[in-house]
Formats: sequence, structure tokens, C-alpha cells
Amino acid sequence: MEQKILVVEDEIKIARFIELELMHEGYLVEKVFDGRSGLERALSGDFDLILLDVMLPQLNGLEVLRRLRKERQVPVIMLTARDAVMDKVSGLDAGADDYITKPFAIEELLARIRVALKKNKTASEAHILKIKGVVMDCDRHEVTVMGEPVELTNREYELLQIFMRNKNIVMSRDRLMNEVCGYDYFGETNIIDVYVRYLRMKIDDKYQIKLIHTIRGAGYVIKDDEA
Ligand code: CA
Repeated sequence: MEQKILVVEDEIKIARFIELELMHEGYLVEKVFDGRSGLERALSGDFDLILLDVMLPQLNGLEVLRRLRKERQVPVIMLTARDAVMDKVSGLDAGADDYITKPFAIEELLARIRVALKKNKTASEAHILKIKGVVMDCDRHEVTVMGEPVELTNREYELLQIFMRNKNIVMSRDRLMNEVCGYDYFGETNIIDVYVRYLRMKIDDKYQIKLIHTIRGAGYVIKDDEA
């Protein structure tokens, strides 16, 4: 399947040049020319990687990245001006996977894109997920808590897997619905609350751990940063 790259770059000639090169390599490309559109498209979740210029109208690249990282872990490569050391540091601090300084050789950009995509693929295919006492073996489709096997329905298992792959990220009910039930599902989002209740009964209550946290008005999150 073709990989989709979002190019957020206000210099139209550079954006066009990158687009042509990426298309030549077999990627699908969409380009937008300001930070606000960039953030909006990036949040849609349609992309495998995002090339994000730092100096952008409306919302600069660093701010786009900060807001994006609250919701998504998609790989981001920042495009920075030559010698803008602060931009590089801030970009990496804000969660960029890599950066490249302009002007760049296209071969170098392509190489960095390949590395970022591969790294992300490896991470998203991690077969064993562990948080607190909960271990999910994705090959065997098994979950254990404190070493004891726990029986989950398919929906409960999928929901738990989404939480574990997105640990420390607050997941809205709508997003969970989309991921568990598919994008075509137009049912009630409170069905998510029902699944969460079952998961809590089977894991949190039974083993007295606090795994799934409710964030009022926002959704749910699994945290692994506290005892
Ligand atoms: Ca720019």
C-alpha cells in the first residue's frame, strides 16, 4: 500500500519540488501552505509521515507540532532554515522525529523519510505491549495481568490494544469509536463507556490497579508514568 506524506510548506516552489520527488518515489502526497491547514490535515490521521516547515504563516511549525503531539504520534520531519539551531532543538523537544536544514539534497531528505517510516513501522508492530502489570501478546492475542491470563472479548481486546499503543495520550470517545468500530460506524459513542466499564471490571477492579483514567469532557487515557 502506498504511503501518504503531508507536506506543510509555504514556499510554493519548494513544496512543488518536494511533491514531485516524493511522487517519483511512489509516495502519495498532499501539500498545504500554512500552519493552520497543516495542523488540521495532520490531525485527520490520514498520513504516514509529515514534512513540516518551521517558518509558516498563521501557525508556525513548532506550534503545529506541539498541538499535533497531544493527539498523534505520526512521524514528523521538520524543515528548518540553515543554522537555526534553536529551531532544531525546540523541534526535537516538541517531539519531531528528525529535521533537515534548507537547502537540502533531495537524496538526503528521501533517506530520512525512509528511516522515519521504518522506525515507526517497527514501533507500531511491537508485538508485546506492557504497562504496569498488564502484558499484551499481540501474536498470541493474549492478555495477562500480574501473570494471570485474562479473558477479553474481541472488542475489549481491541480497545485495550488501542489504549496501550497510545499510552499517555487522551483518547476521545469519537476517536475510540472510529478505531474500534471503523469509520463507517454512526452509533452511540457511549458504547465505548460500556466497553471501558467491562475492561475496568476485568483488569482494574480485579487486580486493584488504576489503568484506565477518565478525563472529564475529553475521554480516556492509560498512564504508565505512576505507580
Ligand atoms: Ca517557510
